Amino acid sequence: MTKRLEGKVAVITGGSSGIGLATAKRFVADGVTTVFITGRRQDQLDKAVAEIGGNAIGVQADVSKVEDIKKLFLTVKKTTGSIDILFCNAGIGENAVLGEISEDLFDRIFSINVKGIIFTVQEFIPLLSKGGSIILTSSITSGKGLRANSVYAATKAAIRSLARTWTAEFKARATTDHGEVPLGEADHDKVIRVNVVSPGPIETPMLLNGLSTEIRNVIKSHVPLGRLAQPSEISSIVSFLASDESSFIAGADVQADGGLTQI
Ligand code: NAD
Repeated sequence: MTKRLEGKVAVITGGSSGIGLATAKRFVADGVTTVFITGRRQDQLDKAVAEIGGNAIGVQADVSKVEDIKKLFLTVKKTTGSIDILFCNAGIGENAVLGEISEDLFDRIFSINVKGIIFTVQEFIPLLSKGGSIILTSSITSGKGLRANSVYAATKAAIRSLARTWTAEFKARATTDHGEVPLGEADHDKVIRVNVVSPGPIETPMLLNGLSTEIRNVIKSHVPLGRLAQPSEISSIVSFLASDESSFIAGADVQADGGLTQI
């Protein structure tokens, strides 16, 4: 049986740990030809590449710097010529209550979580020339009030908005570069789909660093399924959204939160 990502090329930002790393492993298991992973530290990328196996390539790039994104683009272009999957997953979170939000904190979080995604997608569009799937990592905090979380939550809400806007934009530019002409039947397989995955609490370094057992148990107690999730429970969704099995899903936000936002 053919694997669902057989023959595809993928780029994952923030691929050296947590959800990004789990997704790189899942992509390889699902048959990608090549998966590029990015992160800021080469040593962590090397470790991740060894762990992923298959055709994983680590490229150092800080997504908050457009110059780094352009270099990443050139490396990918030179190596594979085109891509099929772009998973914009790199992100950071820092807590600050209103009254304690510094300009530095604001700039740091927005430049990675929002600017990083906008410029990565903008830069990589030419490499999605055959069409493809873009997946953006948001968070359930984008739609749920949580103390000390306003800046992070605002970035994650922006990401959901980007997916909707780009879904509208890609409608017109989905295929031949001939401008905004009605799409012919032959062009439908060249469409670019953009979707969002919104995780709840996932056991990754981002969530667990500095988290006491007590707080961890408090979080668990709010989740109807009674536990935190593993990164692999997000990567399975990303793989589905990346594949042709989700061919009619566009502009959607898939929440995986154990029911947390539903009660
Ligand atoms: P993580 O800290 O394990 O992974 C974050 C990744 O992003 C790392 O690989 C890191 O190197 C990379 N990164 C950070 N800044 C970067 C930059 N400037 N340039 C390039 N790469 C950068 O955490 P994670 O939980 O796997 O986070 C992945 C995504 O999931 C983030 O966008 C995060 O906001 C989101 N998320 C996580 C949770 C959770 O509970 N863990 C919940 C909701 C959303």
